[in-house]
Formats: sequence, C-alpha cells, structure tokens
Amino acid sequence: MSCVRARSALPTFPISAGSVAKKIVVNPMAPPPADLDEVDLPDYRYAIRSVFSLPLICSTWFPTNGWLEYPSTALVTVRGCTQGCSLCGGSRSAYELNCGRRRPSMRTPAKLVEDIQFIQSFSRTPIFIIGDIRQGGSEYVEEFFSRLRAIKLKNELVFELFWSAGDEFFSEVRRSAPAFSLEITLESADEQIRRDTASSPARMRT
Ligand code: SF4
Repeated sequence: MSCVRARSALPTFPISAGSVAKKIVVNPMAPPPADLDEVDLPDYRYAIRSVFSLPLICSTWFPTNGWLEYPSTALVTVRGCTQGCSLCGGSRSAYELNCGRRRPSMRTPAKLVEDIQFIQSFSRTPIFIIGDIRQGGSEYVEEFFSRLRAIKLKNELVFELFWSAGDEFFSEVRRSAPAFSLEITLESADEQIRRDTASSPARMRT
C-alpha cells in the first residue's frame, strides 16, 4: 500500500491499481524479475503447512475433492511462453503487452528440482512439469536433468513438449526419472483452427 500511495513501482509486481482518496492510482511498471524463483507456482509448502495449522480453512484450498488422498501436483516453469498462441494469456506477446516482459522468465533448474524434491517428500503421484523446459535452452535442460539425478526421484514426471524431441532428450529423461508420460493435447481436431490460433499441430504433454 505504501508503494501505491507513493506512486512508486512495486518491488515484485509490475503494475498495480488501487483506490486512494477515491482516485484510481496506477503504479509505473517495475522491470519484471529475470526468473520465477521469487514466487512458488503453486506453493505446496503453504498448502502442506495449512493442512496442519488451518485444517478447516485449508479444505477449500484443495484443487480437487480427495486431493489429500491422491495429491497430484504440477509446477509452472515459465511465464511468457515462446509459442505465442493467439488464444493464450500466458504467451510471450501477452506478457510483453501486459507486464513489459520481453522474453520468457523461467523457474531456475535449481528451484524446479528443489520443488520437485519437496513434492516427493509428501506425494508419490505424478508431477506435471508445465511448460516445455527446452524453452530455457540446452544448458538449462542439462542442468535440470543433472540436478534431478542427484535427488533420486521416485515420482513419475509428466512433461509438456512443444515440438518433437529426439533420442538425446528421452535418454536424459529415462536416466533421471523412474517413469514419465506424454500426453497429447489438441486444442481442436480441425487443423485450420489450429493454424488460425497459431497452435502447434499437436501440442504434446509428456
Ligand atoms: S503453448 Fe500453451 S502456454 Fe504456450 S502460448 Fe501456446 S497455449 Fe500458451
């Protein structure tokens, strides 16, 4: 609130609007963070803490009925996806327009693996890695798998791939995770619609 009153940029969020003295105040944009490590997406530590500290209130947090019995999880890896589908608010162009983010920001491999390790401590269900990790480049992918091998993962991983992957990628996956899966998501069966929305011919989620 002090940032809104002073009309200064907020430390973490690029833009804010508030009503002070019956006026709308729009803060200037702060440069978006270079990576996503500052904020947990989603915050499973908070969820697990809530189970013990706020048992009644936290029941409204759960994404699905019976989540505690089968806590399926997902981790967001990127904001400002490179694919630029015209329908998507999470694309690079949408983020550039709304938040001034000119290139994708990734959760770093260290943070991603740290969060996977935390999930492993309370769940054995598959972990969905949202966003193709190859958007971070080959060094990102290398570091991710090398860190993953170090924690001796027990959960299945679900990857999202935006374009075809070769033997090299899949052999890294096999070396680093006990199991993995690919899920193909077609926004539409109609190729023309996919072309019109600039979607990939077949978006794959593994
Ligand atoms: S691939 Fe998915 S996240 Fe990326 S721009 Fe398209 S719909 Fe959005």
